Amino acid sequence: MKAATDSSTGVRRIERREPSYYREQIDEAAAALEAALARNDLAVFYRVFRRTELPFFGEVYEDDAYGLFRVCFDVLHRLGGVSPAAALAVENHYYVSSAIATFPTAGDEGQDRSRRALLRSIIEGRLLVANTNSKIHGGKLGEIGTCARREPGGFRVTGKAAYTSLATQGDLLVFITQIEGEGPAVFSITPMQDNPGVEIGDYLFPSAMLDSDTRQITFKDMFLPDESLLAGGNDQHTALLFGFEMAWHQLLIPALYLGAAARAMQEARKFLRATTGRDDRPLSEMDGMIIDMGRLAIEYRSACCVVLQAGQALGEVKELPRDAGLLDKAVNLAGAAKYVGTRCAEAVVTATRRIIGARAFAGGHHLERLSQEVMFASLGPEVSAVIERRYGKQVLDEQTCLELPW
Ligand SMILES: Cc1cc2nc3c(=O)[nH]c(=O)nc-3n(C[C@H](O)[C@H](O)[C@H](O)COP(=O)(O)OP(=O)(O)OC[C@H]3O[C@@H](n4cnc5c(N)ncnc54)[C@H](O)[C@@H]3O)c2cc1C
Repeated sequence: MKAATDSSTGVRRIERREPSYYREQIDEAAAALEAALARNDLAVFYRVFRRTELPFFGEVYEDDAYGLFRVCFDVLHRLGGVSPAAALAVENHYYVSSAIATFPTAGDEGQDRSRRALLRSIIEGRLLVANTNSKIHGGKLGEIGTCARREPGGFRVTGKAAYTSLATQGDLLVFITQIEGEGPAVFSITPMQDNPGVEIGDYLFPSAMLDSDTRQITFKDMFLPDESLLAGGNDQHTALLFGFEMAWHQLLIPALYLGAAARAMQEARKFLRATTGRDDRPLSEMDGMIIDMGRLAIEYRSACCVVLQAGQALGEVKELPRDAGLLDKAVNLAGAAKYVGTRCAEAVVTATRRIIGARAFAGGHHLERLSQEVMFASLGPEVSAVIERRYGKQVLDEQTCLELPW
């Protein structure tokens, strides 16, 4: 990354890149991921990925969330076509580090300083960022398995969290918990690996999505100094940060799964062009196949459009709390983008599997991996019922839905 310091002002300026600048590095990372899967050794991928600029371009687009989103979309779309599970681990790094890079804190000097310091430490330390929302699979929806208690000079953190992707590769862990008697909070911990306070446990899904490296973790009565608290309490700043971060997550999840859909269409294309019917003509010339593939392509393109438009909406949030209304709109549209994008990806992969038939499970066909992993697309971060309810309430509100400001 090229950076220059303006000698008169002392301000660091980093050269803006066109998304095409990263194309070769994306090719390199995708090839490394293919090689890693072939060898069943993901370390091969992470070695190459960490060496590229790809995980650390957040600062380049610090005041341009849409610009950053476009590049993240390209990386995740490509990796998602190779392995949705591995791309999901990478997505977790991107959504958290992108939220840190672009959360508009300019109106508050203190927050701006600490946000920039955290971003610098990620870039200079070449740190991969994992996260957990501390949810557990208990008897009640939304249960949080961890908590933090204030102590002189910091906090004492205990408890379990069900979900942490990138668990054995992450260097910095950003996690959400509750501070006893105060409310929700976001903390960061480094180092994440070999830290006696953080026990990285077993895979959450013992036989699925293994390459997402999603594991349960336990905080073992760990002391965190005051500086580890990134945001906390029931204040507006914390609520805005949660919304902003969630919008990033809901935008990047469909990016990777739509990559899986694109790759599935590519596999169907290969099959249809290489296989002839009983009349010796390629299946790709059958009118029914042309129509089927056209329908899938339209669904895929429409889903990409809503995801990209939602990315633009997030890019319009330039200053908070001034743009809180625009953030609401972006969060709302990001929910629709996640909903439509992930459902479309699942439907496209299923349809291409029906086109290719049983060959999709013979001899290590790529569609087998895509089929097994794409079913995780719509499961999170927000579950479908939550997004449907939000939209349902909007259209059933007192004002007619013809007048909704969409
Ligand atoms: C592969 C994978 C990796 C993940 N990695 C991470 C990670 O690194 N960090 C992290 O923090 N999280 C991670 N998550 C969790 C993710 O962000 C979501 O929290 C999770 O997917 C939500 O799914 P759940 O089944 O746990 O939801 P739950 O809230 O337990 O919902 C279960 C079901 O209950 C019903 N339901 C839930 N809420 C409502 C409602 N309001 N109204 C009506 N019905 C409802 C729905 O049918 C829903 O499917 C990961 C998830 C997956 C699948």
